[in-house]
Amino acid sequence: MSYLEDLIVDIDEGERSRVRVTPDGRHAYEAKFTFTQKGFEMLRQGYLCINCFQDLRPDGAFPEECPMCAFPVRDRQLEHLGISFVGEEQLGSRLSLSDEMSRMGDLWLPGS
Ligand SMILES: [Zn+2]
Repeated sequence: MSYLEDLIVDIDEGERSRVRVTPDGRHAYEAKFTFTQKGFEMLRQGYLCINCFQDLRPDGAFPEECPMCAFPVRDRQLEHLGISFVGEEQLGSRLSLSDEMSRMGDLWLPGS
């Protein structure tokens, strides 16, 4: 799975992981994956299984089913990507403290 080193920046299975509630009411903890631009493009273009991260390039984009996990890539990949995609994070450019404070000020005004 060494090709993934190029595609995934970070796998965070710690407390920042997202919690998903399954249809039957159980809580499932999902690791949060951070993809490189290249990795995200591969997901979007159907060259990487969103379920098991199988490299789909030998099969061509959007195979009907993932050869590894049988995920219905053609039907579900983009839908799944839309659900799972929580936004782009700019790595290494965190808000400065004063930006953070002024942003919080919009939400919480002490003494007002
Ligand atoms: Zn798969």
